[in-house]
Amino acid sequence: SYLGIDAGGTLVKFAFYHKGILTFHKIPSAHMSAAAAWITEQFSGAQLCVTGGKSKLLQSYLGREMQEMVEFEATCSGAAYLLKEQGTNESSYVLTNVGTGTSIHFVQGEEHSRVGGTGVGGGTLMGLSYLLTGHSDYRQIMSLSREGDRANIDLKVSHIYEGAEPPIPGELTASNFGRVLQGSDSSRDADKLACVVGLVGETVTTMSVLAAGKCGVATVVYIGSSFVDNDLLREIVLRYTVLRGAQPIVLANGEFSGAIGALRSV
Ligand code: ADP
Repeated sequence: SYLGIDAGGTLVKFAFYHKGILTFHKIPSAHMSAAAAWITEQFSGAQLCVTGGKSKLLQSYLGREMQEMVEFEATCSGAAYLLKEQGTNESSYVLTNVGTGTSIHFVQGEEHSRVGGTGVGGGTLMGLSYLLTGHSDYRQIMSLSREGDRANIDLKVSHIYEGAEPPIPGELTASNFGRVLQGSDSSRDADKLACVVGLVGETVTTMSVLAAGKCGVATVVYIGSSFVDNDLLREIVLRYTVLRGAQPIVLANGEFSGAIGALRSV
C-alpha cells in the first residue's frame, strides 16, 4: 500500500487509498510521536512519501528514512488533482495555501512558481485569538467567531466617507481594528474573533488578487486547514475576492493537497 504525508507546522496530514477510495487523516504536529506510531501501526509495510517542513522531524521519530518531495511541488500537484476531480477544468490560476503561514503560487498547467506569501495565516488566527480572548481551542474559536459583529471594531471605507461618495467600494475595510479607539465601546469575545478572521481573510485575499492581476489570471484557488470548520473565513474570502474583481474557489479537502501530491509521487 501507499501513504502520502504532509508534515506541516501545525498538522500532519495523510492521504491514502482505502478500499479504492481516497481517504484522509490528520494528527497535530505537536504530537509527532503519535503520528509516527499511527504510521507504524497502520502502514508498516507501505511505501511512504513525505513533504512539508517537519518531514525530517517525522523521519527521526519513525527511525527510518522515506522518499521526500519538495513541499510546493506536492501542494500544487495535489491541488490540481482535487480541482480536476471536483469538475473544474481551470488550468491557470493563483493557488493560495492558508496554512500556519500563507503561501501563494502561480499555476499554469504543469508549471508552477511561488509568487509570494505572508506570515498572516492560520497561525495568526490562533495566536491573535488567544491574545485577545484567551481562547485556544480551534473549533471553539471558529464557532464563536461566527456569532461576532465586526461593526464596532473594523473601520470601513464608508465610515470614513460618512455619507459622501467614496472612490472605492464603501464595503471595503479601510482599517482592520481601526475603529477600536474611535468611540463605540463594545467588543465581546465573538466580535474580536470575527475581526481576527476578517484581518486574516482580507489580507490573504488582497495578496492573492494582486498576485492574480500580476500573473494575468482571474481565478484564485484557496486551500489549507484554516478553512476547515471555518465558515466565516470562507465567506470573507469568497466575498472579498469577488469584491476585488477575481473569481474564487475554496477547494473541498484542499488542506490535504500536499499529502495527495506526496501520495501521487510514490
Ligand atoms: P500546516 O501545513 O502549516 O500545518 P495547515 O494547512 O494544516 O498548515 O493549517 C494550519 C492551520 O489550520 C492552523 O494554524 C489553524 O488555524 C487551522 N486548523 C484547522 N484545524 C485545526 C486543528 N484541529 N488544530 C489546530 N489548528 C487547526
